[in-house]
Amino acid sequence: AQKIIFGPEYERELDRVSHLIGQFRYMLDQRTEAAVREAEKASSRLRLTSEIMLAITALLFLFVLYFIIMRRVLRPVGRLSDVVTRLAAQDFAVEPPEYSRIDEIGDMAQAIRVFRENALERQRLEIQRDADLAMRELLARMTQRLQGCDAVEDVMNVVRLFAPEIAPAYAGRLYVHDEPSGMMIQGCEWRAPQGSVERFRFVDCWALRRGQTHRPDGTMIDVPCNHLNGDHAAQGSICMPLIGQGETIGLIYFEPNADKAGPLSESAEVYLDLLAERVGLALANLRLHEALREMALVDPLTGLSNRRQLDAMLKLHIEHAEQGGRPVSCLLLDVDHFKKFNDDFGHDAGDAVLRAVGGVLTHSVRGEGNAFRYGGEEFLLLMPGMGIEQARERAEVIRRNIADLQLQHNGQALGRITASFGLSTYPDHGRAETLISIADAALLRAKAEGRDRIVVAAVREREATR
Ligand code: GH3
Ligand code: MG
Ligand code: MG
Repeated sequence: AQKIIFGPEYERELDRVSHLIGQFRYMLDQRTEAAVREAEKASSRLRLTSEIMLAITALLFLFVLYFIIMRRVLRPVGRLSDVVTRLAAQDFAVEPPEYSRIDEIGDMAQAIRVFRENALERQRLEIQRDADLAMRELLARMTQRLQGCDAVEDVMNVVRLFAPEIAPAYAGRLYVHDEPSGMMIQGCEWRAPQGSVERFRFVDCWALRRGQTHRPDGTMIDVPCNHLNGDHAAQGSICMPLIGQGETIGLIYFEPNADKAGPLSESAEVYLDLLAERVGLALANLRLHEALREMALVDPLTGLSNRRQLDAMLKLHIEHAEQGGRPVSCLLLDVDHFKKFNDDFGHDAGDAVLRAVGGVLTHSVRGEGNAFRYGGEEFLLLMPGMGIEQARERAEVIRRNIADLQLQHNGQALGRITASFGLSTYPDHGRAETLISIADAALLRAKAEGRDRIVVAAVREREATR
């Protein structure tokens, strides 16, 4: 057994076995290596496949994402931002896109639509406000010009100029009420109106009868005015009475221009009202002014000019006289014992005497405006161009005419009326400024010498008053 175990056979056998084991191990290694290599190959193939798949998926994802972002977000946002830019540049003609989606883009589109509508409304209001401001400025300018007018013709000129601007769609006429005749008389017209006559009776206009604007073709059926002729009787005419201090003093008539006819807007109606109101006020002011001026310059009892006007006239005549080397005569007269008429027959009788004497003087100057009521029962006559003799002749006629007056009051004869006269003439009796006082001194002498006479100033008096 020892021999066998430790003999060469055993050694050989051991070597063989270990060789076999080595061989087996080598083969095993080889096989394992091949298997590992195969597995590695398969795994790398799989990885490549999976990587390709991942890439494709990623690309697909990106593509879908791009598509979604592009179609659903970028493009709408781009359009919306374009719209916002144009809106910001006040281009309100741009139409915001209709996105009725329930998301942020939809909300944004809706907000932009609301913004545009608001902006459009604001723009409309701004245009309206600007137009209104311009119109009111025009009205204010017209009012200012009207305030500067001191004759009816001036008012007509202003209205003729401003009315076509204030109511561009209308032609029209302005009438003034002539109270004595009861007629409406045209003062001016603009844009060649066809529809109303130039003169008509007050009662022919419904606006005047009612004291209110009359529009037969307005919103309600109404009767046309009689001053409208033919075809124009019911074609949108507007009559506006001009009222001042509660009195109807005129009328503004409007008719639509053939080319610009259209319904009257609310604001245009307001402008027409304002126009009528301002013109009415201007005419009323003018009337008042004229009445005041007359009151200030005319004596209400005799209708002669009063002392205020005398100063101006005297200055004027003297200037002319000095320049032209022509004479001016001044006749001062005082009714004799006038107090007696008041005392015996009453104050009204005294007034009647003054009126009659005033009448004689008015007749003698033939309405030239040179007869004045100087004071109580004193009158004054300026006679430009008349020398002493000519003036004395005229004074004599006046004296006789006064003495010839036969007045009755309440059935009672007032008796003889006489007056005393003092006459002075420039340049014969001295300086122009003292003409009246020289005449007054002569008048005193006429009284002293027995009344009912004419005394011509003497050179002595000229010296006395110097
Ligand atoms: P003489 O001849 O000296 O002028 O006397 P006379 O009476 O005319 O003069 P006097 O100055 O004494 O009287 C004038 C009167 O005239 C006094 C005044 O009461 C009156 N009188 C003044 N104005 C008016 C008026 O407007 N109407 C009336 N009825 N009387 C007037
Ligand atoms: Mg007197
Ligand atoms: Mg007298």
